[in-house]
Amino acid sequence: MEKILEVNDLHVTFSTYGGTVKAVRGVNFHLNKGETLAIVGESGCGKSVTSNAIMRLIPDPPGKISNGTITFNGKDLTSLPEKEMRSIRGFDISMIFQDPMTALNPTLTIGTQLVEGLRQHYNTSSTDAKAKAIEMMDLVGIPNPDERLKQYPHQFSGGMRQRIVIAMALICEPDLLIADEPTTALDVTIQAQILELFDRIQQQMGVSIILITHDLGVVAKIADRIAVMYAGKIIEVGSRREIFYNPEHPYTKGLLKSVPRLDLQGEKLIPIDGTPPDLFSPPAGCPFTARCPFAMEVCDKVYPDQTELSDSHKVDCWLQDERAKQLLASTATK
Ligand code: SF4
Ligand code: MG
Repeated sequence: MEKILEVNDLHVTFSTYGGTVKAVRGVNFHLNKGETLAIVGESGCGKSVTSNAIMRLIPDPPGKISNGTITFNGKDLTSLPEKEMRSIRGFDISMIFQDPMTALNPTLTIGTQLVEGLRQHYNTSSTDAKAKAIEMMDLVGIPNPDERLKQYPHQFSGGMRQRIVIAMALICEPDLLIADEPTTALDVTIQAQILELFDRIQQQMGVSIILITHDLGVVAKIADRIAVMYAGKIIEVGSRREIFYNPEHPYTKGLLKSVPRLDLQGEKLIPIDGTPPDLFSPPAGCPFTARCPFAMEVCDKVYPDQTELSDSHKVDCWLQDERAKQLLASTATK
């Protein structure tokens, strides 16, 4: 499979008066062409920082990509001049945020906003731009696009506005779409419709998608692979099947227990006790130690190596490490 994006040993820090926050601490992942990768984790785990780093939207200062490479279509984005980055942002890579209102200008019609990128970047004629805008409105499921192009953002519901934002993000036919909590601000039925829309868009346009969310339930239907982030690291990655049916990291298991499931009605949701570590001074060992019911002596001291459970399934946990198993066996026999 062809890789469209490869992130290698990414570190992002933020300098504050209180010290340096190590928000992303050595993240590695890739995205294949035409696939959807979900990055899942609690707020503050570094998932949004990771996606902002791909877009080079980390405010420097106080933020900084302090190490690593982000290879997109063969180019390392971390070393690209800002001018070149600007021609990638919004055109080759598009981003959608949680609140559609912040992405839309309340004083301009939807039509004007939709074609802005096309006109700027490709110098498209107004007739062609309008035809493309209508096509995109149609694609994202907005009825009467011809009429509705003349309307303003406040004349649309929240779900419709998010559809418009998606149309805007796709109008220049990007290779990569990054959606950061795209359904969090919407109610449940609208959420499901927007997720279906992502699925359909991917099939029709072949765009690769990174979906950032705190809610594993959101990705159950549409993610091909899932990366679970905790305290600035990806602690487990695998296919959707592997993560949902065969999770190995205690944190992933905990996350799954806190997702409501239709097939297990009446079963209690179990939140994970405790809080993530302070990223001003993250622990040397596994950051989940303080919350982990299986923590061993070694966990706190040394960060576990990555164990490959399959070609696609990888986990950072001492429980999967042969050396820790031997250690446990030898202490048990004493
Ligand atoms: Fe728990 Fe240790 Fe695995 Fe961390 S490395 S998740 S503390 S068992
Ligand atoms: Mg976020």
